[in-house]
Amino acid sequence: HLFYQNNDPITAKGLAQQKGDRFLVQNPPALTLTQPQLDKIYALTYERDQHPYYEKQGTVKALETIRFSIPTHRGCYGECNFCAIAVHEGRTVASRSENSILAEVKAISRHPKFKGIINDLGGPTANMYAIECAKKLHNGACVDKRCLFPDICPVLKIDHSSQLDLLTKIRLIPGINKVFVGSGIRYDMVLADKQNGLAYLKEIVAHHTSGQLKVAPEHAAPHVLKMMGKPSVGSLLKFKKMFENLTYAVGKDQYLTYYLIAAYPGSSDREMKQLKDFVTNKLHLTPEQVQVFTPTPSTYASVMYYTEKDPFTSETIFVEKNITQKVAQKEMIAKPTASSAQKTQAVKPSNLPHGYANKPRLQRKSR
Ligand code: SF4
Repeated sequence: HLFYQNNDPITAKGLAQQKGDRFLVQNPPALTLTQPQLDKIYALTYERDQHPYYEKQGTVKALETIRFSIPTHRGCYGECNFCAIAVHEGRTVASRSENSILAEVKAISRHPKFKGIINDLGGPTANMYAIECAKKLHNGACVDKRCLFPDICPVLKIDHSSQLDLLTKIRLIPGINKVFVGSGIRYDMVLADKQNGLAYLKEIVAHHTSGQLKVAPEHAAPHVLKMMGKPSVGSLLKFKKMFENLTYAVGKDQYLTYYLIAAYPGSSDREMKQLKDFVTNKLHLTPEQVQVFTPTPSTYASVMYYTEKDPFTSETIFVEKNITQKVAQKEMIAKPTASSAQKTQAVKPSNLPHGYANKPRLQRKSR
């Protein structure tokens, strides 16, 4: 907790831990960049190309997705327990100005290799752009509570209007055929924005989804979701319904892609069975891509993994450490057995005319 609580640039103190006659020192993080500083960085004339030195070794495949992608902000206050972004980018979201982003879009539109498609307009969580807590910006992030878990903090005013304006303006720029939002979206934030959440999702569904929109429920068993610091499946199902209704209304063939994790601390075969039931009966799919949990340095999930304890309650938890069993957990949901395939095939579309976006399917590979 001491490490995590000393990661906000406004409140962090330097930490030192003695080991023998030496000290491990953790300096406080650098101050969050201001908007003018961030804009200045993104106004630099980047090559958007691989270094010529590597050309003789072939093309860098990853460049395809990043060459014409635009970061709108840095940082994330989602604080999922398995993720290190809040530690290395900060829990404070620093957003670029609209002018800075529009200027980059215009510059990209003139690039000789640009074919009219911006692959991603986003950040660690796409819809945190221009949404931040005034108290955090002045006093630092709270050490005794989280911004989004277990419920969205009432101090955080969630308003997607800036994102909505930005997306609308970008798609009207000459030379831009498509702007996709490829970064993940926090569905609980969309639902919490009573004023503009629906309009934002409408815009995303109608103009900014490249066949699949990424969301990250990661699991479905309540106990595991709690260990992850993720919202309940109730909000996911509400969001799914909204997405499917809007998708149907615009007559598009597009789906939600779900990021899922197997063998997370606290997840045994019993919890994976719960997840399997959820994806089959509620999401109506057989996921193709499921990650086996990997402990990431500096995260609470790693503490859970190595200590086999819940760091918030000190209770002992089950942790799958056997690699064969970890893979078995993944295969419980990722690879259909004969019976589960039959079961999936038998699922009938529930609430949509023609079962438009509800038909059983395999997820495409996405990460
Ligand atoms: S007041 Fe709420 S939104 Fe602001 S930093 Fe604290 S927990 Fe986060």
